[in-house]
Amino acid sequence: MEKIFENIEVAYQYKSLKELKHTYWFYNYFFKSWIIQLAKKFFILSLILRIPIKWLVKPTIYKLFCAGETLQEAITKANKLSEFNVKVILDYAAEEAQTVEEAEKNYKQIVEVINVSASNSFIAFNVFKPTALCNKKILEKKSKCEELSDEEKDAFDKFRFFVDDLCNRSYRAHVPILIDAEYVSVQDAVDAIAWEMMKKYNKQRAIVFNTLQMYRKDRLQYLKNLSKAAEREEIILGIKLVRGAYLEQERLWAKQKGIPSPVFDTKIETDENYNKALKYCLENISKIAVFSGTHNEESNYLMLQWMKEFTIEHNNKHVYSSQLYGMSDHISFNLAKLGYNVAKYMPFGSVTLTIPYLLRRADENKSIRNQKSRELELIKKAIYYKKNKKHEIR
Ligand SMILES: Cc1cc2nc3c(=O)[nH]c(=O)nc-3n(C[C@H](O)[C@H](O)[C@H](O)COP(=O)(O)OP(=O)(O)OC[C@H]3O[C@@H](n4cnc5c(N)ncnc54)[C@H](O)[C@@H]3O)c2cc1C
Repeated sequence: MEKIFENIEVAYQYKSLKELKHTYWFYNYFFKSWIIQLAKKFFILSLILRIPIKWLVKPTIYKLFCAGETLQEAITKANKLSEFNVKVILDYAAEEAQTVEEAEKNYKQIVEVINVSASNSFIAFNVFKPTALCNKKILEKKSKCEELSDEEKDAFDKFRFFVDDLCNRSYRAHVPILIDAEYVSVQDAVDAIAWEMMKKYNKQRAIVFNTLQMYRKDRLQYLKNLSKAAEREEIILGIKLVRGAYLEQERLWAKQKGIPSPVFDTKIETDENYNKALKYCLENISKIAVFSGTHNEESNYLMLQWMKEFTIEHNNKHVYSSQLYGMSDHISFNLAKLGYNVAKYMPFGSVTLTIPYLLRRADENKSIRNQKSRELELIKKAIYYKKNKKHEIR
């Protein structure tokens, strides 16, 4: 297959030379295991001791991965991407609400995003994290079918209301909504409610998408079961595929509980599982809408190969490829240029709010090798290209 992701002229067109240099510097010098470990300890300590770190985080890692502190700032950035046919998902970065009041505050912010999405076609999807709308411990108890106290019951009822209302608003706005996946320990409760929402809102088209983390050993079979159930219910299945961002936490959790690890032991197994799920969705494209959230080049190339094989049009509404803001622009922009559906995940919110998200990105990027070093190589080439183009203009 033609190596379309190597077109650097297309890949980094929306970034200035200065921005590219910042990205290169960051990927090259910051993402080293020992620096990340140190930075993580510093971040956590500063949160506990309430040491202000905004001055350090905002111009560096935050600038690379986040779209701004307010919805308006994020919209401005999103507008810029839309000039290149790259759509966005404006992701209010809240997670792990402790109280119902906190959950309600998060819900209201997501409602604001949905309202904006109704009249802005550059927003391809809405999104929320379940733990932003309900205390994690309650979702864990619900997942284990444990009895909830009256107070917990109220909080869970509120959660159901929030989820239903967000899905309903998205339905009315004609914009699909993604339910992010987090920890295995809360997922059964989330799966149950996601399925309920799909049955309610996915009758004519895919509005509600549940996320499947393919590092989980059980998810391929779960996808197949869901697909059969969706066929019986005569609904369109909305599936967001990712590999999964909580690998170390899941392993630790299983070890502490003395249960087998729910996630694969090797990267190769996760990769194979992801690709199998992607192929399964594409083979059943009339009944499944798939959102492929990955920076993995091989998975993206396989998506193109299978789309061709199964004669799926580039812009088929049931297929989206998505990458996180600040990562893998060479994939996003080249796919968009060729007419494929692409959406960039753009987290926004205060610096403190985005810290857990930023820590996950730092963890993910901490060893710059293989694919990441390829991306670095492409950015280096793009800097060279932009510098020389500047000279030509002069
Ligand atoms: C648009 C988008 C939305 C996302 N939403 C979510 C979400 O809702 N929930 C969520 O959990 N994550 C989410 N992620 C993050 C995602 O799960 C991955 O952590 C991240 O994208 C890196 O995986 P990759 O496929 O891009 O690339 P790769 O770099 O090819 O894969 C890295 C991933 O492989 C897996 N892996 C690495 N080493 C091993 C190993 N030794 N054994 C087993 N598996 C291994 C891990 O999942 C790791 O994150 C999202 C990512 C994107 C792009």
